[in-house]
Amino acid sequence: MFERRVLVTGGSGFLGSHLCDRLVARGDDVICADNLFTGRKRNIAHLLDKPNFEFTRHDVTFPLYVEVDQIYNLACPASPVHYQHDPVQTTKTSVHGAINMLGLAKRLKARIFQASTSEVYGDPDVHPQPEEYWGRVNPIGIRSCYDEGKRCAETLFFDYHRQHKLDIRVARIFNTYGPRMHPNDGRVVSNFIVQALKGQDITLYGDGQQTRSFCYVDDLIEAFIRFMEKDGVTGPINIGNPNEFTMLELADAVLDLTGSKSKKIHRPLPSDDPKQRQPDITKAQAEFGWEPKVQLREGLTRTIAYFDGLLKEGDPLIVGR
Ligand code: NAD
Ligand code: UDP
Ligand code: UDP
Repeated sequence: MFERRVLVTGGSGFLGSHLCDRLVARGDDVICADNLFTGRKRNIAHLLDKPNFEFTRHDVTFPLYVEVDQIYNLACPASPVHYQHDPVQTTKTSVHGAINMLGLAKRLKARIFQASTSEVYGDPDVHPQPEEYWGRVNPIGIRSCYDEGKRCAETLFFDYHRQHKLDIRVARIFNTYGPRMHPNDGRVVSNFIVQALKGQDITLYGDGQQTRSFCYVDDLIEAFIRFMEKDGVTGPINIGNPNEFTMLELADAVLDLTGSKSKKIHRPLPSDDPKQRQPDITKAQAEFGWEPKVQLREGLTRTIAYFDGLLKEGDPLIVGR
């Protein structure tokens, strides 16, 4: 018998599949529930023949009845292109999905982790962002389906905690990158790498002076597990890499590491695009002794190798774009 049964929603996506890898490797009995909206079967293909892994195609906006000890709730499209594709479904996924997973956790008395986001801070006027900051979010803009959905999910987590004594963990994730990012999800790291590898123009939105702080996926998953295993800490806790870069600096690093001759070009800045973002990770350091180890150039090198592999293999998503 396996010691722990764990449900991962969104488990065939970018972060979810890495989390499943770690949980399966440590011997948990893992159920991955995903509707495959942005996730891919190839992300979990190598796990399907393991005795302690099971995939179920399921949409979290519908109830789910399984028996587990822990729940990681990651189901939700994460890139602006994908979450704006069907914005009503995005809000439903965050809100109805949270209610269903919290209802499941309540029935089972299971510990439950929520993948929240730095987007709850919106376009911040406090920098870097500590967890106490309430954010500056447009409630009616094109990012709101995601931002407000995730904010409402946090509300639900804390109300289930207060009202039903649920054992919750709320992580606010900052921009994360690495192998298995969706080649077409429009996020900046995947866009720049694929453009550089294919010799296409590198598309800088606006003047390229806006900043983000990028965390490598392995560091992030380590933080998820440490947070989940720590007793008596609800969060919210920021998880991310505090090293901050402009998009122009990111483009130059990708060009340098790929040796590409692609040109940098400018495209209009999407509305409500945050100008700066950097996590204050003091709490994660204090509560579970975590800080990221993989720095940008090393993480980019591994991510470039992944996308290069997809190209060589002729993966339709990357070849067709
Ligand atoms: P992703 O799009 O690769 O993964 C999301 C997964 O959820 C996909 O497999 C998708 O098919 C699944 N999904 C979407 N809607 C669903 C539904 N209704 N029912 C069941 N499954 C559904 O994105 P990711 O980067 O792996 O993000 C995972 C989680 O982390 C998301 O909740 C996201 O909001 C959060 N997050 C990610 C980042 C980041 O930088 N990657 C930053 C902040 C927060
Ligand atoms: N739920 C679920 N699986 C369970 C238990 C509950 O999916 O094992 C869903 C169910 O759809 C319910 C929701 O979680 O509507 C919220 O459950 P809760 O017990 O909080 O409230 P209810 O609506 O049942 O009063
Ligand atoms: N961005 C860019 N070129 C691209 C894709 C994104 O300059 O091809 C910018 C985008 O405008 C934003 C930043 O890169 O300022 C990060 O975008 P991403 O979609 O990766 O994440 P988010 O905005 O959700 O942090």
